[in-house]
Amino acid sequence: MDFVSRLSCINCGKTHSAEPDRYLCDDCGDEGLLEVEYDYEKIAARWSKEELAAESDERIWRYHPLLPVEKETPRPPLNVGNTPLYPSQVMAEKLGVKKLWIKDDGLNPTGSLKDRASALAVVKAQEAGAEIVSCSSTGNAASSLAGNAASLGGKLQTVIFVPERAPGGKLAQLLLYGATVVSVQGSYEEAYYLSRDAIKKWGWYNRNAGINPYLVEGKKTAVLELAEQLDFNLPDWLVFSVGDGCTIAGAWKALQDLREIGFIKKVPRLLGVQAEGCAPITEAFYSDSDLKITSEDTVADSIAVGNPRNYKKAIRGIKASQGEMVNVSDEEIFAMMRLLGRTTGVFAEPAGVAGLAGVQRMVDRGEISSAAEIGFVVTGNGLKDIDNARRAAGEPIEMEPDIDSLAEAFVRKGII
Ligand SMILES: *Cc1c(COP(=O)(O)O)cnc(C)c1O
Ligand SMILES: [Zn+2]
Repeated sequence: MDFVSRLSCINCGKTHSAEPDRYLCDDCGDEGLLEVEYDYEKIAARWSKEELAAESDERIWRYHPLLPVEKETPRPPLNVGNTPLYPSQVMAEKLGVKKLWIKDDGLNPTGSLKDRASALAVVKAQEAGAEIVSCSSTGNAASSLAGNAASLGGKLQTVIFVPERAPGGKLAQLLLYGATVVSVQGSYEEAYYLSRDAIKKWGWYNRNAGINPYLVEGKKTAVLELAEQLDFNLPDWLVFSVGDGCTIAGAWKALQDLREIGFIKKVPRLLGVQAEGCAPITEAFYSDSDLKITSEDTVADSIAVGNPRNYKKAIRGIKASQGEMVNVSDEEIFAMMRLLGRTTGVFAEPAGVAGLAGVQRMVDRGEISSAAEIGFVVTGNGLKDIDNARRAAGEPIEMEPDIDSLAEAFVRKGII
């Protein structure tokens, strides 16, 4: 933590020292989200793109000058980060933009971008001397926390609260990684409150993205990495699906970091995409009013967050980038899962492609131009939610093992 100067409250500006288990501002309670501040001058003086290029650790830890972790704390051994970035001209043409890069964060060890935050949480939990880490989650934060904790070999236990709607793949991961799983009969909101009370009662380490200031720092590595992969020439837009708001807030933090230390000049605009059935942040973004809690009615379970905690950080970041927000329907999400799978071989869960469906909407509305270059991060793997993948994908050809019927079926389908 050579370069972390302090934590500052986004509500009142009060500063706090960067203890591993410091969560909220003393004065502002739940409203007082904290933000990690770095000494950018010092980083710029002691770190360069060349040194980064020479770093042998390919995981998120290669960005250590911009991460709030002590050098000596053991990292979880899993390979978090270093996910591929694919250019896709075919998808760019289908969407009607000039260039498109797809970063597949579904290839992280537990299958989602959340590994970046959970790896950081596991380091901070050790620094805080914790034996148990806990969170509530729509699924991916939970399974990534359980997996990253498990990778330490059993010295860190996890207690996870999920809403009953959590998809089977995610639940199976949690249990397999040895987490104590509490499936709450209620919404994500209710799971969150129960976890909050339990964490307080038993003094566990808190990996709730809504309050832990270090998780944004983990998530920002997706953009640090994307920037490095593009040799620090970022596209016009960076696109993320938005649930709680922590991921896109992290994207903004990465852009600020990179600009402040002189690694980038051009800062892309951020596009935040929510589902029509759960879009409280889009609503607050365009109405300039306080957030109104909504229902959570979408197939994209990972972004179905009716009462997001990081919305202020998210909105602030998107606005500062001259960005926009847009909502997409479940049908558009399913269509994009198919298109992405068929043209790029990338298999995404619904929330994982919502952002790309948002690009399509923005292009159709003329708000993203045909000259635009777009960077998009697939946030979660399709294998996480097989039921919805099958709804998106359609049915196989079913038949008796008989070549004549096969020929008939092929003719019917126009295959031969
Ligand atoms: C968590 C998640 C998101 C959204 O991130 P937030 O920080 O909640 O805004 C998007 N897609 C997937 C697959 C996720 O797991
Ligand atoms: Zn405060």
